[in-house]
Order: sequence, then C-alpha cells, then structure tokens
Amino acid sequence: MPSRDIAIIGAGPAGLIAGERLAQAGYRVTIHERMASPARKFLLAGRGGLNLTHSEPLDVLLGRYGAARTWLEPAITAFPPQALRDWADGLGAESFVGSSGRVFPKAMKASPLLRAWLGRLAALGVRLEAGRLWTGWAEDGALTFEGRDGGRATATPDATLLALGGASWPRLGSDGGWVPLLAERGVAIAPLQPANAGFAVNWSPQLRERFAGAPLKRIVIRFREQEVAGEAMLDPAGIEGGAIYALSAPLREAIARDGFAEIALDLRPDLDRARLAEKLGRRRKGETLSNHLRKAAGLSPAAVAVLRDSAGGALDEAPEALTAAIKSARLRLLGQMPIARAISTAGGIAATEVDADFMLKRMPGTFVAGEMLDWEAPTGGYLLQGCFATGIAAAAGMQRWLAGASPAAPLT
Ligand SMILES: Cc1cc2nc3c(=O)[nH]c(=O)nc-3n(C[C@H](O)[C@H](O)[C@H](O)COP(=O)(O)OP(=O)(O)OC[C@H]3O[C@@H](n4cnc5c(N)ncnc54)[C@H](O)[C@@H]3O)c2cc1C
Repeated sequence: MPSRDIAIIGAGPAGLIAGERLAQAGYRVTIHERMASPARKFLLAGRGGLNLTHSEPLDVLLGRYGAARTWLEPAITAFPPQALRDWADGLGAESFVGSSGRVFPKAMKASPLLRAWLGRLAALGVRLEAGRLWTGWAEDGALTFEGRDGGRATATPDATLLALGGASWPRLGSDGGWVPLLAERGVAIAPLQPANAGFAVNWSPQLRERFAGAPLKRIVIRFREQEVAGEAMLDPAGIEGGAIYALSAPLREAIARDGFAEIALDLRPDLDRARLAEKLGRRRKGETLSNHLRKAAGLSPAAVAVLRDSAGGALDEAPEALTAAIKSARLRLLGQMPIARAISTAGGIAATEVDADFMLKRMPGTFVAGEMLDWEAPTGGYLLQGCFATGIAAAAGMQRWLAGASPAAPLT
C-alpha cells in the first residue's frame, strides 16, 4: 500500500476525478477547495442540462480540440467518451445520446451524480478541506493556504495536483488567481481569455428593447470558410449561444487583429434560394413587410429585427433582395463578452511547460489538469471530457512519478 500524501487543489471535475483514482490506488488524498462546497461550476453546468461528453467518432471528437489535439489525444484516448459514460453509470447516472449526438445523464442535472460521487470519495477516505484558499508556496516549499476566517495553514505532500480551473464565472471559485503564482516560478501561461462567450453587436435601440433574450433557432452562422448550424440568443449587448460559441476562437483572433469580425447568418438554411425567392414572390396586397417575412419566409419577429438591423434600417423589398438578405444577414461583431460571462476559458498553462504525464517541468512533483491548461473546445461535452481525461492522466502520471519511474519524455 503506497502510504504517500497527495494534495489536490481545486474540487472541480478534474481534481475530484484525480482524487478518486489516487485514493483507489491507495494514496492518502486531501482535496483543498476555496469555496464552502465542491464543484460549483459543475453544478451550474448541470442547470441547463449537463452535457457530459459527445458520442461522435473519436477522431472527429479529437478534432474539436484544434491545435491542442496532439497534446490531449493520449489522455482522451486513454479515457474516451464511453469510459466517461461508464463511470457516470457506475455512480447511478445512466446517460443517453441526445438528437445532436451530445451525451447527457438521464436526470439532466449534475446534482445527483455529484452527490453519489462525493459519497464514493468519502468512502475511499478522501479528505475534503473546503473554504481553503491556496495562496502559493512558503520558502521551504510547503503549500500555503488561507481559511475563510483568515487562519493560515500549510501542507507538505509528496506530490501536488493543481486543478484550479479557468477564469470564467469567477464567483463560482475559479478566478485565474493562480496565474501570478505560477508565472513567478517561470511557468509560461497563455493569457486567459473568454471562450464559448458571446460577442458584442451594436444593435438598434428597437432590437435591444424588444428582442433581447429571444432565440434565433435553426440558423447557420458563416465566418470565412467555416459554417456552424445551431441556435443563437440575442442579448442587449450582442449575440450568444452554441452556434456562435463554436466560432469563438477564429472570431476572437479576427477581432484582436482587425478590431471587428463580420459574420453572415442564414436565417432559413433549410430553404434554398430559389424556393425562398418563390415564396417571397407571393406577397399579398397591403401586407406589411414584417407580416410577409413572417408568413412567407417563416421568420420569427426576432429574426426580422436582426434582418432589419443587418440592413442598417430599410430593407430592399424585392423578393431576390430579401432572399439574399435572409440567406446572408451580415453582422459586425465588435468584441467578446467579458470572461466573467463566458462558459469556458482559452489560454492557460502552455503545453511546453508540462511533460507527457502533466507534470510541470520546472516543478517536479507538481502536476496540472483541467481547464487551467492552454486548450479550448466548443460546447458539446468536450470541456468536461477534456477535464476528466486530463485529471485521470495526471493522476496516472503522478503514480508513475511517485513509484520512481523515469519521467515520461516531454511532448514535442
Ligand atoms: C454556465 C456553464 C455551463 C457549462 N456547461 C457545460 C456542459 O454542459 N458541458 C461541458 O463539457 N462543460 C460545461 N461547462 C464547462 C465546465 O463546467 C468546465 O470546463 C469544468 O468545470 C472545468 O473543470 P476544472 O476541474 O478544470 O475546473 P473548475 O470546475 O473550475 O474547478 C476548479 C476548482 O478550483 C477551485 N479553486 C480555484 N482557485 C483556487 C485556490 N486558489 N485555492 C483553492 N481552490 C481554488 C475553484 O473554486 C473550483 O472549485 C460549463 C460552464 C459554465 C460556466
């Protein structure tokens, strides 16, 4: 029995799954969490339907991680979507595949799964120290913590896993406060930025007042050569939702370079131009343009408002011109919504800083996992899949390191 002490900092999915694996392997595990209770973001993620992972073929799924694919591939291949589903099933959270291929627990929520999971961790002897903010290292290398009452504590584990999350929704605990602590030690960290976040649009006062919160359903968004089908949501300050989130990375880059990005919305992707033009050619005498667009083209009032904003006011009412506008309503995105409102975080600890076991090269014995690493992915279950897989990979790497195995070769 390996009687070694492990400190895990951060009780999100990455930290908790690593704790489970290490405790099962016989290590003494303490999880330190700054909030009064664990996994606040995981619980919030479950509010809108907990999308655990995705059922598409593994090669397609790996492609969702973009440039980080080569980095994450060994971890995700070792703990693929089916393994995640089996794990959830083992905790009584049987899952199903939704029509989009996304995987959800049948209960949709995270709370029953989390309750069973915390029960399992307690039975394994994992200690959870809640209300403990990790503040860095003392001069002798001990981990330092601050309690909610201002009390201080230290820990000198045999190995440490940092699983501190990104910086979105900071009131749930992950605020990126770890960045200076690691940067001081020379760890390269790509700036934390919003991912899966909305974008600012300078809407007309009419649209802002009447349609904020309205969905645009079954649309296609095009940006350069990329095209994403799905749903978007109008916000007083811009546009958000799954279809726009999926384009986060290229849009963010374009805005950083050019100051704006122009997208094109196809508001009726299911109708080809000829069919749409034919429908729009049949306008009843005296019918207002809004009614005509609603009846002939099947547009919602919110979609009509977007069309008008896109045209900058008056629309050319000729059927061909309306068809072109509906199939390609242009919107200028002026910036990204703040990270505090983002679903996830781009940026983080650079791949070059860790070895193939997710250990920091500059800090032997300190491992890292989850959203604090420099990878991003769209919504669709890829975020949790990445956090679980890297948590498990870091736990396995830590066991190898503690057993004295020669460190894994760094990834190139
Ligand atoms: C609204 C919303 C919905 C989402 N829905 C989904 C979804 O359906 N599917 C999906 O795949 N993903 C979803 N996500 C993303 C997913 O929840 C995150 O990617 C995931 O929780 C990250 O896991 P993690 O363990 O890396 O970090 P976190 O879950 O952020 O956990 C990190 C933990 O570390 C703690 N911590 C941070 N700093 C310190 C410190 N200094 N000392 C002590 N503790 C500290 C934090 O309090 C936190 O508990 C959603 C996110 C949001 C905001």
